[in-house]
Amino acid sequence: MDKSPSVYLFHFRAAMTDHTPDHDPHCVFCKIVAKQIPSRPVFEDDDFYAFHDIAPWAPVHFLLIPKIHIPSMAQVTQAHSALMGRMMALVPVLALQAGCRPYPDGGYRLVTNTGVEGGQEVRHMHFHVMGGPRPWLRG
Ligand code: 5GP
Ligand code: ZN
Repeated sequence: MDKSPSVYLFHFRAAMTDHTPDHDPHCVFCKIVAKQIPSRPVFEDDDFYAFHDIAPWAPVHFLLIPKIHIPSMAQVTQAHSALMGRMMALVPVLALQAGCRPYPDGGYRLVTNTGVEGGQEVRHMHFHVMGGPRPWLRG
C-alpha cells in the first residue's frame, strides 16, 4: 500500500518519541499522577508529585516523583539538570512539612533505588524521603 509523505512523517515522529514517552500507561506512578490510583498527597505542582508511601519504613516516608515518566536514575541526563535541581531543592522543604525534625538532630534519609540490583521495584524514577524518631521498621 502506498503511503503519503505525511504518513511516513507520522510514523517517524512516533518512532522518535516511543523511546521517551512522557507517560507510560502501564506505570503505577504515572497512574498515581493521573489520579487513576488513589494516593495520599504531600505536595503537587506542575512538574512534581509527592505522596506517602503505601508501606512506610519510617514514621515519615514519602515518595517524590517527576510527573514525566523517567524510568530510573539511569536515564537521567544533562537535559534533566533543571528538573533534577528543582526536585532536589524540594526535599528539605517537603521533609520538614511532612514531619521530619530539623537538621542536625532530626534529618532524613534520601534514597533512589536504581535497577534490579539497586532494589528498584517501580520503574518511574523516585526519591524516598524517610525520617522521624528511631527505631524505624527498616533502614
Ligand atoms: P522502589 O523499591 O521502587 O524504590 O520503591 C517503590 C516504593 O513504592 C515502595 O516503597 C512501595 O511501598 C511504594 N509503592 C508501590 N506501589 C505503591 C502505590 O500504589 N501507592 C503508594 N503510595 N506507594 C506505592
Ligand atoms: Zn511512570
